[in-house]
Amino acid sequence: AIAPQDTRDDVAVQIDGVSKSFSGTVALEPIRLKVRRGEFLTLLGPSGCGKTTLLNLIAGFLEADEGELFIDRDLVTQVPPHQRKIGIVFQNYALFPHMSVAQNVAYGLRTRRVPKAETAERVREVLALVKLEDFADRRPRQLSGGQQQRVALARALVVRPRVLLLDEPFSALDRNLRSAMQVELREIQSRLGLTTVFVTHDQSEALSMSDRIAVMSRGRIRQIGTPSQIYDRPENHFVSTFVGDANLFAATLLEKTDATASLDIGKTRLSLTTFQEELPEPGPVTLFVRPEQCSLTGLDQPGAIAATVALSVYQGSYAELHLDCSVAENGRVMLRVPASEAMEPGTNVGIALPERGPAIYTTTERET
Ligand code: ATP
Repeated sequence: AIAPQDTRDDVAVQIDGVSKSFSGTVALEPIRLKVRRGEFLTLLGPSGCGKTTLLNLIAGFLEADEGELFIDRDLVTQVPPHQRKIGIVFQNYALFPHMSVAQNVAYGLRTRRVPKAETAERVREVLALVKLEDFADRRPRQLSGGQQQRVALARALVVRPRVLLLDEPFSALDRNLRSAMQVELREIQSRLGLTTVFVTHDQSEALSMSDRIAVMSRGRIRQIGTPSQIYDRPENHFVSTFVGDANLFAATLLEKTDATASLDIGKTRLSLTTFQEELPEPGPVTLFVRPEQCSLTGLDQPGAIAATVALSVYQGSYAELHLDCSVAENGRVMLRVPASEAMEPGTNVGIALPERGPAIYTTTERET
């Protein structure tokens, strides 16, 4: 079968209303998602939100309750994993301990009955790609964690998959190795133009690696977009707090015209323009502002919101000021100042909010 006609040729994976429950518990609501050819798409969300379930459905390790799945326009909903022409890398490498690096990498070609000479050539090629040419004869236990992870990547790449699926592949690595591997993977992926679906719960990993991010919670995709769309224009309360630092104020929306709102935040009345196409109805709302959009001002200035320095955290090139603020949703506001401008705890300050850029969410939508 062929995917419905709205599938353009640049779609590598198409997920049409695929859902999954485990003995009555919904792990995934019906999901609609298209992964473009050559794209690095990240599934990002907290533990239990359904990322791995979605990846396993694409891989074919799980059967969907409903909906259809296409890879390169082929309907694969009923196709077993080994016939889907995908490559998979897991968190726990799952290398065969008794086989050499080369044998581990060759495994997928042996099961596909690729001739010996071609197998040797392709293994050599892919080991060079992951910079392990000199390690072909070693056993996995003779390798570092990062090297083992590269073997796992080589093993997935050697079969020339239509799609590469990665489930938290770097979570067992220490921080430095992790960021080196992130760069390496991204280089290999873009050099090969390989369609990639990457699972992580680490927002900075998602922001730095992805072409697009699908932010998930409770079995649903809450927003999908480029890293800067997700960071600069979070569509809802959940995305605003899960990705990046967020300052949230309890406010009352008095009036709205298009994207401009008149608000009361405690005793302060403000007018500001959001990036949103649609604002909530007047009433209690949450005002969202990134730390870098807030600044310090005099308490007597119009629009100033009163706060008190609780803690100043030195971060080298800047300091984080954590402020007690009675109109903040969780009682705290954070902003960054040059390290030389850090202030003593107990100092009373005013917070100035930007006239353009923040967002207003319905307060009831809050969730974790
Ligand atoms: P994590 O980052 O912790 O791996 P996740 O986002 O990958 O989380 P999933 O593993 O997809 O989440 O799980 C989604 C939901 O489905 C969870 O509530 C989980 O407990 C449940 N679940 C997943 N697999 C099974 C299973 N085989 N049997 C029963 N419930 C399951």
